[in-house]
Amino acid sequence: MPTLKQAMSLKPHEIENLKHDLCKKIESSYKELNAYIQTPKIQEKDKGKIPILIKDNICVKDSPLTCASNILHGYVSPYSATAIEKLEQSNLCAFGRANMDEFGMGSTTEKSCYGRTKNPYSTAIVPGGSSGGSAAAVAAGIAIASLGSDTGGSIRQPASYCGVVGLKPSYGRVSRYGLVAYSSSLEQIGPITQNVEDASLLLDIISGKCDKDSTCLQNDSTSTFSKLNPNKTFKIAVLEEFIEKATKEVQTAYYDTIKVLDSIGHTIFQKKMLNVDYHISSYYIIAMAEASANLARFDGIRYGKRAEGENLREIYFNSRAQFGDEVKKRILLGTFVLSSGYYDAYYLKAQKVRSIIKKQYEDIFQDCDMIFMPVAPSVAPKCNATKTSLEMYLSDIYTIGVNLAGLPAISIPVVKKPLPIGMQFIGRFLDEQNILNAAFGLERELGLSTTHKF
Ligand code: GLN
Repeated sequence: MPTLKQAMSLKPHEIENLKHDLCKKIESSYKELNAYIQTPKIQEKDKGKIPILIKDNICVKDSPLTCASNILHGYVSPYSATAIEKLEQSNLCAFGRANMDEFGMGSTTEKSCYGRTKNPYSTAIVPGGSSGGSAAAVAAGIAIASLGSDTGGSIRQPASYCGVVGLKPSYGRVSRYGLVAYSSSLEQIGPITQNVEDASLLLDIISGKCDKDSTCLQNDSTSTFSKLNPNKTFKIAVLEEFIEKATKEVQTAYYDTIKVLDSIGHTIFQKKMLNVDYHISSYYIIAMAEASANLARFDGIRYGKRAEGENLREIYFNSRAQFGDEVKKRILLGTFVLSSGYYDAYYLKAQKVRSIIKKQYEDIFQDCDMIFMPVAPSVAPKCNATKTSLEMYLSDIYTIGVNLAGLPAISIPVVKKPLPIGMQFIGRFLDEQNILNAAFGLERELGLSTTHKF
């Protein structure tokens, strides 16, 4: 599978051959992986355009979109997300739909109406989530690159579990227009790629202003690729206390990589941050509150597949019953924390904690350029291993702080065998350039190959 950079110099007929080849592979040898929810359609209008796999929550004009939920079956998007329009302006195109956790709620891609996606490293383990299809396909060599969305780690964590690169842009860097909202104040669309150069290229393509999203910044698109420099050295903060919650193998990978960073000229600083338990509590209160508001529109009347019913009440009930259990749970909890008697005790408090977390990152960035941390506390677990929702939520401890603070972060593999382990660089707001530079330098030093044969 060519990288995105390589694909950019392919001739139109070579790209078309590649698409045909991809379809064959997705239909046959890779079907079991279940990374694509259906075989992509080769379209005349996209002739010669480089195919990019798209998560099933990003609108592509005239193409079905379901967010891996029964409630959206039959929905065809009447418009394209701004990120998709920007792809098309750069001679790329949407190609295929990646499996995901329903509405982005999950960390394993087991909570999809299409069944679970498998990890290319071992079919018994999960690929991570919620952008698990996007990451598994890139890792297995059945996508050049893909777009995912990251509300609390859904790009970085599957990238880490599948041994690929995932970039969560600063909040407002990429338009959310056409991204089906889960938690609007936390999420961003971002690239999942075979290497750091491709992540930089794809970020430059999809970022930039958009009149249709008032939270999108008025900045021009990034131009990180032309400035990529693996030789730059930085002041890097490490949070040793933070990683006590990680498994031995993740801790070892972390310390080993810190040594490598030191050996290539970076300066390492020990820093402290508020206990990660606060990240989890405040994230899940805010995410569920916003989810309950955003998902209210799927009622079978305004949006969503209308279910049968004897009367209006039954139609509402039966239509909303099409949501999966995890989504229902979040709507209920979100509604609860926003209800008048509990708003101050939960939602308002969570917002205050969010401000403290943001401030703590700012304090670290007073004298450090970036933070280096694991992406997840363990390697990818076996499927069905997370018995309770709470267990699943704990796999997000290292990723969600970044979303609460709106910062950019990039996950890159530092170990590939027996199972991949990813680490992330977290940057100052809008400083994608330097985390890409640091990741590029580390990637070169570690020399880990990209795609993995399934
Ligand atoms: N696992 C987190 C959640 O379930 C993050 C999901 C995401 O980033 N979309 O909310």
